[in-house]
Amino acid sequence: MISVYKFGGASVKDAQGVQNVTGIVRKSTQPLVVVISAMGKMTNAFEELTRYYFNRDLDLCQQKQQEIIRYHQSIIKDLFGDEKGSAGFNRLAELLAQRLKQAPSRHFDFEYDQIVSFGEMFSTSIVADYWTAVGQTNKWVDVRTILKTDDLYRDANVNWELTAELMEDTFLFDEVSCYLTQGFLGGTLSNLTTTLGREGSDYTAAIIGYVLNAREVTIWKDVPGVLNADPRWYSEAVKINELSYNEAIELSFYGAQVIHPKTLKPLQNKNIALQVKSFIEPDGQGTVICERSGISEPVPVFILKKEQVFLTVSPHDFSFIMEDRLIEILTLFSRYRIKMNLMQNSALNFSACFDDGRDTNALMEDLKKNFLVRYNNGVDLLTIRQYTPGAIEQMTSGREVIDSQITRKVARFVMR
Ligand code: ADP
Ligand code: ASP
Ligand code: MG
Repeated sequence: MISVYKFGGASVKDAQGVQNVTGIVRKSTQPLVVVISAMGKMTNAFEELTRYYFNRDLDLCQQKQQEIIRYHQSIIKDLFGDEKGSAGFNRLAELLAQRLKQAPSRHFDFEYDQIVSFGEMFSTSIVADYWTAVGQTNKWVDVRTILKTDDLYRDANVNWELTAELMEDTFLFDEVSCYLTQGFLGGTLSNLTTTLGREGSDYTAAIIGYVLNAREVTIWKDVPGVLNADPRWYSEAVKINELSYNEAIELSFYGAQVIHPKTLKPLQNKNIALQVKSFIEPDGQGTVICERSGISEPVPVFILKKEQVFLTVSPHDFSFIMEDRLIEILTLFSRYRIKMNLMQNSALNFSACFDDGRDTNALMEDLKKNFLVRYNNGVDLLTIRQYTPGAIEQMTSGREVIDSQITRKVARFVMR
């Protein structure tokens, strides 16, 4: 049966990373589809490039382009001994240069997808050329031709039926036992590039796993598995060995960055296990997410979202926050595509916590027409699942809690 492996940017951030990934792929005895993201922090770099390009900051645009090209060339040099060693990369670099010479359209999200997608195109071309050079037989697939989406650029929705048909015709495993393709990207019916939302490569792996009825999907990370908190801010984090789909969906929904929130649903629908494993210690047990109940370890699980906006609105006319007012408020959030991480209401107030984004101000201005608007920037939103009084005390002591929401299973705090 087929397995799907997904490697994120951190795993291929340098030549040594690419070699390590190659070693992990070599060890697999299953037919494999390998999904790879852009190298290192390249998606952030491409985002900056897109902004300069779109705003016609030509000098900065050129500088960024050179920085991106040099970064990849240095990896290529380490892998092939020659910075021109990857023919696939050279071709794509030329395509990028041509694109940047043309003036952009007026549609930022469209331009974003056309440019940012070069990150995944570069990384997979380099890896495919490297694999060919070292005798790791593989077939490189342009995912944009088989993962079909609508044209909601930067947050495209999958056309499942067509995608299934095209993927089944592509991943035949008749001549090779290893395919290599891009995460995060899709293509419209008219073959324009789309993306599935930041960090969307996990989701790509799940889509492929679902369509091919894979035995399992493994996402290889720089952590030993899913931990009970992000080790970057919580040094005592412990690994969770097994999680149910539902628990994992809740964790990723609340913002545990280790898995993209859309990843689990397709896998759960077909009961395909998701393994989270370490590319640093590939023989470790990792975490298995499957059809079981709850979390195998009875520990509190902490999810911290930083740099949140906490907003409270109350109607100018002192009307109650009832269905019609809620619809009005939620419609505005939806219009500006601002995703709420927490919401709460009382008779006269509606509060929400969300990521500070480029449309935050526009949302506030619109809300001010009918509501008194108050807000705080830069607050933390902490979610604790399987909370205990001790865990709450540990996390909130010495902090100013400006809102909280406590249910049987989950305690949430907005803190300054
Ligand atoms: P990828 O390389 O696939 O893009 P990410 O960087 O998006 O991987 O996800 C891995 C990171 O997620 C880890 O380095 C870790 O800092 C962070 N993280 C956040 N919450 C958790 C958690 N609960 N368990 C493990 N890692 C977590
Ligand atoms: N490269 C994309 C990003 O950084 C997708 C991903 O890595 O999952 O958002
Ligand atoms: Mg990532």
